[in-house]
Amino acid sequence: MILNGRKVAKEVLIGLKEKIQKSVEKPTLAVIIVGSNPSSISYVNRKVVKCEEVGINSMLIELAEDVSEKKLLSIIEDLNNKKDVDGILVQLPLPKHINPLKVTETISYKKDVDGFHPINMGKLLLGYTDGFIPCTPLGIKTLLDNFDIPLAKKHVVIVGRSNIVGKPLAAMLIQRKTNATITIAHSYTQDLKSITKTADILVASVGRPNFITADMVKDGSVVIDVGINKIVGTNHISKIVGDVDFENVSKKASFITPVPGGVGPMTIASLMQNTFKSFQER
Ligand code: NDP
Repeated sequence: MILNGRKVAKEVLIGLKEKIQKSVEKPTLAVIIVGSNPSSISYVNRKVVKCEEVGINSMLIELAEDVSEKKLLSIIEDLNNKKDVDGILVQLPLPKHINPLKVTETISYKKDVDGFHPINMGKLLLGYTDGFIPCTPLGIKTLLDNFDIPLAKKHVVIVGRSNIVGKPLAAMLIQRKTNATITIAHSYTQDLKSITKTADILVASVGRPNFITADMVKDGSVVIDVGINKIVGTNHISKIVGDVDFENVSKKASFITPVPGGVGPMTIASLMQNTFKSFQER
């Protein structure tokens, strides 16, 4: 069965829109983009469009590739101090002369709707529920819950240990409320296949097209594909594929996310949810 993220995200956004329509004031999300990386522009535009759809004001701040780190940090400080700005997001990756950790730490943890601030990461790990959870892990959890896929007692294998997907997803699913058993694999993991084959739920966040093949997957497992990879097809037209060999893995999996239309829309829906959460706590 296909885990249709587009459909679930739409339902989440409709629910949010109804709540926002009922309030006099509107939430505001500030989105900062540095430079003109085409993928970043496309991600940012998608976020701005979703804001409009649900009734969140978006404030798009476009900065030149050579903007100084000092200038960027001072813009963030200004936004931190603005009462009517609920969320601040700086699109990654940043140019090499800007330290992304400094940027993440400068955003007020109370407006950190991406959930990357060390305080929010710490809260997630400790099981506090008042912090912001990074959007992709939150979106994955919402998707699994929506299809009533149980997590308790299940073995979840996450391939990829990034700070934005692998680590926070593990931190979220290992909590007492969820009670999954987690294994995180990475590029130094030995005999990956023997581990992925034991997964009841397999999450791929690697960034390599068709990396997870059918022989790496247990029959009946749930497969979540986070990857977004641009490849050029035999017809010379580029297309987006995930990290999972969808055609063959889908024959073995009980549930699987497509790419596009799986985790991606859920990530944006979670961003909108986080912005609304911040607005409610204004
Ligand atoms: P990163 O690109 O930061 O890291 C990739 C991870 O994969 C690393 O932990 C790396 O290990 C691991 N890895 C690489 N090669 C192997 C291997 N041969 N065996 C096992 N593990 C390996 O990960 P992200 O999570 O940021 O992104 C992954 C993908 O997900 C990308 O395609 C990205 O575009 C996409 N993405 C999609 C989102 C969505 O909303 N759908 C959101 C975020 C990301 P090591 O740490 O040892 O280098």
